[in-house]
Amino acid sequence: MLNWTGHPLVDVGIAALTAFCKQSDPTALTEADLTAAADYLVRLYTQNRAMRGHADGIVFHNTPYTRERDPQARAAYIAEKLYSWRDDAPTRAERCAFCGRPSAYRASRRDVPMLNGQAVINFSPAGRDGLPVCGRCSLALHMLPLGCVKCGGSLLAAHSPDPAITLALARDALERMLKLLALPDLEKLPGVKYEKTRLIELLLRWADSAARAVPVTGYVFSNSGTAPDMRIYPISSAIIGFLRAVRTNPDGTLTEAWSRAVARAWGKGFGESKRSADAAPPKRARKAAAAPVDPEQEVNGLFEALLALPANAVWLLRRYLLPVRPWGLIELYLRMIMNLNNERIELLRTLGDRFADYAKGRRDFFFKFARARNYDEFRRALLRAADDTAREGKPIITFDEFIEVFTTSSDEYNKYNNWRLMRDLIALRMLERGAITDDEVLFDDEPELISQEEEEV
Ligand SMILES: [Zn+2]
Repeated sequence: MLNWTGHPLVDVGIAALTAFCKQSDPTALTEADLTAAADYLVRLYTQNRAMRGHADGIVFHNTPYTRERDPQARAAYIAEKLYSWRDDAPTRAERCAFCGRPSAYRASRRDVPMLNGQAVINFSPAGRDGLPVCGRCSLALHMLPLGCVKCGGSLLAAHSPDPAITLALARDALERMLKLLALPDLEKLPGVKYEKTRLIELLLRWADSAARAVPVTGYVFSNSGTAPDMRIYPISSAIIGFLRAVRTNPDGTLTEAWSRAVARAWGKGFGESKRSADAAPPKRARKAAAAPVDPEQEVNGLFEALLALPANAVWLLRRYLLPVRPWGLIELYLRMIMNLNNERIELLRTLGDRFADYAKGRRDFFFKFARARNYDEFRRALLRAADDTAREGKPIITFDEFIEVFTTSSDEYNKYNNWRLMRDLIALRMLERGAITDDEVLFDDEPELISQEEEEV
């Protein structure tokens, strides 16, 4: 009965409708399925107190479901919005703006989220108010709120060009929503906080079982009266691929390291300065002492930072991943998120191994190298070691290697060629290879480690 349209909000509605009817393909939906879904929506929008408030406040604007006092007029509204996909329903010559079928009515923002108000023609095609919508797309759009997560005063919908993924994400959201709506005497639909963190959580629940990595876009929208708003979070297939690889890695070491990185990032949003965060104990720790933490109401800085990739790729690596260490996790990130080629990664690993051998028994070299605060200090430590080893015929680093790794290139491909980052990566490998034996906290809690200018990189 239904086909994907390519329009994110309509398609998330179609996905919710398909999931609601326990199908996996919208074309397989039957008339009986659509009738059952429409009947459910009628009860929800006219009787369920929490949903009535939700629909009237942020989904539809001044919706006749709740505002229309005349029972006949309300019944006519419901018939047009939820049942005009039926063969005997009247249609108009104008085609549906989403799917091209004959339309049932012209929609305004009280019928379809994020449109103009009735009789407002600004930015409307052909200088006419509203958009023509068919009965099927209308039913899907009225199912849309059930395929979303309520975040504060907005709805979060997740859409992918691969319909199977849109469906999986909407099914997850639908299950939560149906559970909430089934609660007796629910006055107000509870919303979760921190939309970016919640979006990544939604993705993670699905990513473990995903067959392949495809991009996903998160839409957070509100159709509320005076403050309609939409925020869009595109998530590339590289990020999804990285998350999948980390969470399904066969021996579990990357999964375990990733979990530690996530655990460290709770309670502190991306962009909150490290200094202010240091001044006050993390929210999570503070709350843990008083009351149990509600995971749905917490922010995760790492999750939020994922949504700012690739611009903050170096910052994310240094802030969240280097402190949890395993080279395997870092290597995966360098390859999948930062697009470093295999030769470069291999060279960093080789240098790390060689430096670790040299540093065994030369504790001071490790610290001079790993903690140098400026390029001069760093270069001096390295040149001394190179000099030292060259005399024994096995130089710790060759001229070509030094140029390749530590000198800045203007080449776009090598835009991450920054001595501090390369040094940190090598130092991490040295730690893994036992360059020093005590468990030194190297990448953690050092405000100067991430300088302001680097944060802006
Ligand atoms: Zn349509």
